[in-house]
Amino acid sequence: MKPDCIIVGGGVIGYSTALELARAGMKTLLIEREQAGQESSWAGGGILYPLLPWNYSAEVTCLTQCSIGLFPAWAGALQSATGIDPELQRSGMLVLPEFSAESAQAWCNKHSTRLELTSSFRIVPELAADQDALWLPDVAQARNPRLLKVLRRQLELLGVQINEQTKATGWQCDEALVTGVQTNHGTMSANHYIVTSGAWSRQLLGEYALNLEIRPIRGQMLLFKTRPGTLRTIILKNGIYLIPRLDGHILAGSTLEDVGFDKTTTEEAKSMLYAQATGILPLLKNAPLVQHWSGLRPGSPDNIPTIDRHPQLKNLYVNSGHFRYGVTMAPASAEIMANLILGRPQAIDISPYRWP
Ligand SMILES: Cc1cc2nc3c(=O)[nH]c(=O)nc-3n(C[C@H](O)[C@H](O)[C@H](O)COP(=O)(O)OP(=O)(O)OC[C@H]3O[C@@H](n4cnc5c(N)ncnc54)[C@H](O)[C@@H]3O)c2cc1C
Repeated sequence: MKPDCIIVGGGVIGYSTALELARAGMKTLLIEREQAGQESSWAGGGILYPLLPWNYSAEVTCLTQCSIGLFPAWAGALQSATGIDPELQRSGMLVLPEFSAESAQAWCNKHSTRLELTSSFRIVPELAADQDALWLPDVAQARNPRLLKVLRRQLELLGVQINEQTKATGWQCDEALVTGVQTNHGTMSANHYIVTSGAWSRQLLGEYALNLEIRPIRGQMLLFKTRPGTLRTIILKNGIYLIPRLDGHILAGSTLEDVGFDKTTTEEAKSMLYAQATGILPLLKNAPLVQHWSGLRPGSPDNIPTIDRHPQLKNLYVNSGHFRYGVTMAPASAEIMANLILGRPQAIDISPYRWP
């Protein structure tokens, strides 16, 4: 039987979108060119907050704040339904200089967010130096591979069909509608088509992308192994962060590189991240460095994603371009997409996320 929706791309955005639609009773098929959940959504840090949110636009703040509000119940429901723990934890974020305490305070006041100007040693005594720091105790994180696992399991339980090794290659259209998505397994048809192909979204849409500006921005990450409890909070210094997982792994990231569709890891980035990470937390010099990877973020102007229906093709949609905050933005973005398709009212003004 023909599905109601075909979703193209199995990252956190495709999974979350499928979840919303399946919960609303839509027969959903998700197609993924390789193995789902292995690209940017796997590679990311899982911080559920913008880094220095006061540096971002109102459009980013609105979507992230909305999504952060949904996250605990959203992740909690997934965990209860599947028995898989996405390791959602409120680990807080300690921001080390340089920063603008005034901008931070003003933003936090406006958005009812707790902020303390404190001594860095009070929060993390193992740091290299004691200095003034900003402490955001409510910043949370999830462990990406686990979040993807829990989402996938929930989709399977809801009967969403996931076809891997199925690459979308083009579109079959009549004047105002898509009639099929072409794939390496033939043309597939549904009532609605949703592109959630991350960094590859624009490429896949081809001439139908119109003015959509999504391009890959590489991010490299290092993984250290320490004893559980060695570090309990996220630390951010000059754009480099350390993220402690519950089992003692500490992620150090990340680079922002405009190098096209190239996922190679480089010695240069490794040395830079290693020097920065051990400079912040010297005990990492004695910790095994266990992994080094990269992912391609779906980069977009000002980090504002597009979550909208195509201006001409009435059953084609995109939910992509979440750049640095796709995990954070996933629940709200999926809700917006489902509301659009189902004709339900929106909780926020969605005009900033229109197809450009
Ligand atoms: C190093 C790094 C650190 C990050 N840290 C954070 C963080 O701390 N917090 C946060 O919120 N975000 C973070 N991000 C950003 C976040 O990971 C992304 O915004 C998010 O994963 C985007 O999700 P997505 O589903 O759009 O893309 P992806 O996860 O890339 O998924 C897209 C999927 O589409 C598939 N696909 C592509 N083309 C086709 C096709 N033609 N046919 C079928 N399938 C196709 C791909 O194979 C892929 O599986 C980070 C990213 C990186 C790389």
